[in-house]
This record gives sequence, C-alpha cells and structure tokens, in this order.
Amino acid sequence: MAALGIPQNTIAVLQKYHFNFQKKFGQNFLIDPRVLERIMEAAEITGEDFVLEIGPGIGTMTQYLCERAKEVVAVEIDRNLIPILADTLQDYKNVTVLNEDILKLDITRLVREKNGGKPIKVVANLPYYITTPIIMGLFESHVPVESITIMVQKEVADRMQAGPGTKDYGALSLAVQYYAKPEIIANVPPNCFMPRPGVGSTVIRLVRHGMPPVPVEDEKLMFGIIRASFNQRRKTLANSLCNSPKIGLPKEVIQESIEELEVPVTVRGEALTLDQFAVLSNIIGKKIDRQKQE
Ligand code: SAM
Repeated sequence: MAALGIPQNTIAVLQKYHFNFQKKFGQNFLIDPRVLERIMEAAEITGEDFVLEIGPGIGTMTQYLCERAKEVVAVEIDRNLIPILADTLQDYKNVTVLNEDILKLDITRLVREKNGGKPIKVVANLPYYITTPIIMGLFESHVPVESITIMVQKEVADRMQAGPGTKDYGALSLAVQYYAKPEIIANVPPNCFMPRPGVGSTVIRLVRHGMPPVPVEDEKLMFGIIRASFNQRRKTLANSLCNSPKIGLPKEVIQESIEELEVPVTVRGEALTLDQFAVLSNIIGKKIDRQKQE
C-alpha cells in the first residue's frame, strides 16, 4: 500500500472508496509528509512503545506509527473509514483498529488489557470539536500516559500554554499545566490538510509530570473551584465561588478563604496562579469539612 502522506495517494484512496468527508467528525486529513515526520520526531516513538491514536482517518499517520512503534491501537468513530483502514493498513501486523467513540471508550481498561497497565503514548491529529474533553478525560481519569503529542487548533494550543493575567488563560491552561509540561512543536498552515480547515493548527506535546507540581488535597475540588472561577470571568473570584453549588459555602466564608490566601478580596480568578488555586482549594476543603462536622 502506497504511503498516504503524499496528496496524490490520499486522493486515490478517497476516490477508490467514494469517501465523503463528514464535517461533524472534524475530518481534515494530513497530506504533508514533513509535518508527519515532525510529529513522529516530537513523539519520540520507539520499538518499545504502545501508541494510542485517536481518529486515524484513512490511516495516514497510523502508517507512520506502525513503522516505528511496538503496537498501535487506533480508535475511529466513522464506520465508513473502517474498510478503508483495513486496506491502507493491511501490511501491518502491529495495529488494531477499534470502531468506537473515544469519549465513550474505557481507555484505562484498554491500557490494562493491552499493555499490562504500563504508560502509553498518545499521538493524534485531533478532531477539533472535542479536543478539550479528550485531553481532560485522559488526565482526569488518570489513564497511564507518558506523553500526548497532538495536532490541535492553534488557539487551543495557545490556551494550553497561557499564564495568569492573559486573555488565553483559563481552566484548560491550569488543567494541562497541573498534569503536564506543554511544549509547542510546530505551527501548521491549513494547506497541509484535505479539506483545508478554516483555522491554523499547532502540534503540541504534553509530557506528564512524575509528581504534580503543587500539593493538592482534593483535585476534584480544585478543578471545581477553577471551573467556577472562569465560568464567570468578569466577576470577582468571591462572587463566582459563592454562586457555585459544588462549593456550597456562604459568601463570608469564601471571602475569609481568599483573605487567608493573602490576595485582595476583590481579586478575579484569572489573576491566580496554579499554586494559588492549589492553596485556596486546600483552605476551602478544610472549611467544607468543618461545615460538615457542625
Ligand atoms: N489522523 C488522520 C489524519 O491525520 O489525516 C485524521 C485526522 S481528522 C482531524 C480526525 C479524525 O478523528 C477523523 O477521522 C474523525 O472521523 C475521527 N473522530 C472524530 N470524532 C471522533 C471520536 N469521538 N472518536 C474517535 N474518532 C473520532
């Protein structure tokens, strides 16, 4: 089977199967071998690696992964692509294609069954409409993952890397930076895809921290606080948090917690660092426990 990174080969496969792109699945297939090589280099795939590919499309990047990894599992939602993948990946014995929705798949179980629970590498040109739930799902459910090398919308990559006080800073920045170290690998223009997306794309690599960078007693509570703070960006942190049913503390107690953090009580959530959110969630956690005991 011919290498699909080359546009003519991709066109030939699409024509052979009369494939119709499905916009609802975020289908923009890569047609630039240099970009594919760059992703492989960044992901540092070796013959020891078990790789999960999300959304293989017609198998373009899957072919590159199969050439380098020990084993590849590729999860594709569009059943029209399954017979195409059987054709384009016929030369590889180290690949399994699953016709599933990645958001519904128990990835921890897959890793346990297929890789004895050892950390895997995730590599993908992601469907942009579900980038955030995919990333958050991988991190929050504690799937054993060593690194995630993904193509995302440029604006999302900017958000992953952003720091306090910038317009891009938000819940996604804090979640990504709590779990991993983000590194931008390359910006990729629309003409490297078929069909061309309406936005620029970026390859970003997230290497999971061995230990969280800040001590947090209750991760779920911290992310509840972070989400509540950014849900109403223009409000003060105190107002956002006392409107949150998940926290359930009166305004005076929230204000007292913010004062204990030694920041002005009028501060907005977007000004707090990850360290400060961690300390605040530990303070609020204690107050919630105390309230339960009373
Ligand atoms: N990897 C291919 C490439 O680089 O040419 C295709 C990338 S395309 C941006 C995204 C792929 O993800 C499509 O094949 C699409 O059908 C698939 N996809 C979309 N939503 C999905 C989901 N929920 N679960 C699994 N795959 C999905």
